[in-house]
Amino acid sequence: MELDCRKAQQMINGYIADTLDERELQAFLDHVRECPSCYEELEIYYTIHLALDYLDDDGGAANPTLKLVRELDAKHRELYKSKVLQIIRNVLTAAALAAAILAAVIQINYLITGRLGLIFIGQEEQADDVQEQDSQSEEEITEELDEEKIRESEETTAAIEEIAAAEEADHTGETEERLQGN
Ligand SMILES: [Zn+2]
Repeated sequence: MELDCRKAQQMINGYIADTLDERELQAFLDHVRECPSCYEELEIYYTIHLALDYLDDDGGAANPTLKLVRELDAKHRELYKSKVLQIIRNVLTAAALAAAILAAVIQINYLITGRLGLIFIGQEEQADDVQEQDSQSEEEITEELDEEKIRESEETTAAIEEIAAAEEADHTGETEERLQGN
């Protein structure tokens, strides 16, 4: 791959960022070795890059050992940060669950007592009373319904018996008439 100066200078950023493939890198190295003007261009960019790195790393670029120590520290901070975020996420999930349970309890409480709000210790007895009253009246209603049913069925039985008796009487009458007619 033969490079002209324009192409070589377009590859400077790629060289610094280490994104050139092997073929491009070989061509780039061959060109800057032979071309003083492209080498000068590379040197300028590379110096700027190092200077920016130096500012970014607060001196790290000039001291590889320090740079490694800081990188390890940064990795530790990243891991710690992600652990803390995980804990926060768990707490929020737990809080959301607690809120959902609270909402459900309030709703159930409302359905039972007809009142909004939670049953607190002081109100617990009242709420129990209300609940008891409710179940009592439910029982009463059930008993009333049962009694009504029994009464109805008794009335029905009586009516059926009456009809049966009347039919029998009619039948007997007819038979008697027939016998008398003969
Ligand atoms: Zn050149």
